[in-house]
Amino acid sequence: MTGQPIILVDPSETREILAERLRMQGYAITVASSPVEGAGLALADPPAAVVADLWMPGISGVQLCRLLRAEPATEKVPVILRGPEGDRHSRFWAERAGATAYVGQGRMGDLVRALSDAIAANPATDSFMQLCGEGESDIRDRIAAHLDAALFESVLASEVRALSVCGNFVRLFDLLSQFVARVTSYRWLAVYTEHPQWLGLHAHPAARQRSEEEARRALAPVVATTGGPGTVPLSTVPVLAVEDEDAYADAIGAPPILFPIKLGLEVIGTVALAPREQPHAKDMDLVSIIARELAGPIRIAALVEESQRLATIDSLTGLMNRRAFTASALRELARSQRHGNPFCLLLLDVDHFKTINDRRGHPSGDAVLTGIGRLLGQELRKADFSGRWGGEEFVVALTETTAASGMGGAERIRAAVAAMTVKDADGEPIPITVSIGLTAHREGDTVDSLIKRADQAMYEAKSSGRNRVVLESGEPRPTSASGNRQVA
Ligand code: GH3
Ligand code: MG
Ligand code: MG
Repeated sequence: MTGQPIILVDPSETREILAERLRMQGYAITVASSPVEGAGLALADPPAAVVADLWMPGISGVQLCRLLRAEPATEKVPVILRGPEGDRHSRFWAERAGATAYVGQGRMGDLVRALSDAIAANPATDSFMQLCGEGESDIRDRIAAHLDAALFESVLASEVRALSVCGNFVRLFDLLSQFVARVTSYRWLAVYTEHPQWLGLHAHPAARQRSEEEARRALAPVVATTGGPGTVPLSTVPVLAVEDEDAYADAIGAPPILFPIKLGLEVIGTVALAPREQPHAKDMDLVSIIARELAGPIRIAALVEESQRLATIDSLTGLMNRRAFTASALRELARSQRHGNPFCLLLLDVDHFKTINDRRGHPSGDAVLTGIGRLLGQELRKADFSGRWGGEEFVVALTETTAASGMGGAERIRAAVAAMTVKDADGEPIPITVSIGLTAHREGDTVDSLIKRADQAMYEAKSSGRNRVVLESGEPRPTSASGNRQVA
């Protein structure tokens, strides 16, 4: 019986001794004294296994292993690498290069066991794909090409992974497009993600419209198949566009290359790249590497954006919380002071809210607050903004608004609240009114001084009968004050 063919690559003088001992185990051993010779033999006639030293002059066992793994003829041939016993560094590199086993030099029993395990696990060697006439320089070229490809991949992967620090999708996509445009030429690049639904597009300014249409057409079938519950059609997802001349304005080109972005088994998005007329040979690899590495950075950006959103939103009403409102008001104040734009601030307080809680229960009180939050979200112009100041008090900023038109706006809000229907737990409508204090921005104002004046006006609205709007008069606040209201 002829034994399984094994190629033993061993540059040391003692190779024949090792070969003989393996023959005694029943293997048909072919000895190669150099890695190049071993690679040539293996590629010409793939054996049942290759045994090689990890550290050899010229070409290392790691390189030999990578070559055999990358070539179709030998990709399944088990490779057993031998190196210093117990050397973790050598074992790590052997495993990373795709070796089937790492065995300490001199450990004959381990080597024989590793050989029989490897051959048993991989019985069928397909020798149809033989490559003949491998010269030394050709083998070296092939190894160099495989190592270049591995280096290309690892550099790309680490560039994409570095996008994890971006913290938001807009910046992530901007940096990704800057990077990809340095590596290859394309008409457009798009990244679509599922949760949240983001669509980033990098295109030439002159071809923006056409590129967006093509990207949406290419991605729509993917979205239709992967979109879970709550996913809206791609046509309604707004595009976050990066436009510059790094993308090409070519009217026609090769069809887009698409790869899914996967986090484990879950598809969380898609990368699409539209090549120019002649796609670069490496574009497929490029897009697949980006898609593979982008899941982590995208998930991190989504989590960071969501936690930032939660930190600025009042969960009951969906409006900005006090901190976020103050930050926005500060920006508006600075703008008003720079450009002299008018600007009004309103403080709303629900009338007799304690009675609503006491008579109808706390959940009914909550429903009133939610209703007012929704109403403010709907009633205000886009440039205005509102927040929950605390308890049953709300603040509204009316931008580009004088005191006179601010009174009109505040009155509309007051009337809308009074007309709003919110029902209690028994289905009874709850009468709701608010008292509103209004003040207009003056030079030297701070958020604090604006709030103080609006609060004073609101107090006047309360004491003069509630359910009304009072414009801050500049009079000092009466000291006979009413009770225990607390305003921060
Ligand atoms: P006034 O017309 O003078 O403003 O009277 P009021 O009853 O509205 O004023 P007061 O400040 O005495 O009562 C406010 C109440 O709001 C007291 C507090 O328990 C209640 N409250 C504060 N936050 C919430 C909340 O998140 N949900 C509910 N349901 N009640 C709240
Ligand atoms: Mg109050
Ligand atoms: Mg109140």
